[in-house]
Amino acid sequence: MSAMSHTHRDRMIRNTITQCICINGHYTQQADGFDNMPCSVCHQMIMWENVVDATDGGSYGSIPYGMLRSRFSQGVDTAGKHELFRIPTDEETRAMRGSR
Ligand SMILES: [Zn+2]
Repeated sequence: MSAMSHTHRDRMIRNTITQCICINGHYTQQADGFDNMPCSVCHQMIMWENVVDATDGGSYGSIPYGMLRSRFSQGVDTAGKHELFRIPTDEETRAMRGSR
């Protein structure tokens, strides 16, 4: 087998999932290629992002939703439909990413 025949397999395809909180505090997740979209709930600007490396089914850097909820939930909106979150600081984000 020549070296040429498998070089393309060495190039890993990187998949990401982006955890997002918008300016209104909605938590959403965006798949690869949709990670520059506005909030899918209210269509406003995303204020916080945590990029998770999901290559090969992994979840490197993922912040568990339960952890985010217990630390940053501000309750639900007036319609009672959507949970609202405070925006984590960079430091808080780093701490949560490192806690696994
Ligand atoms: Zn929103």
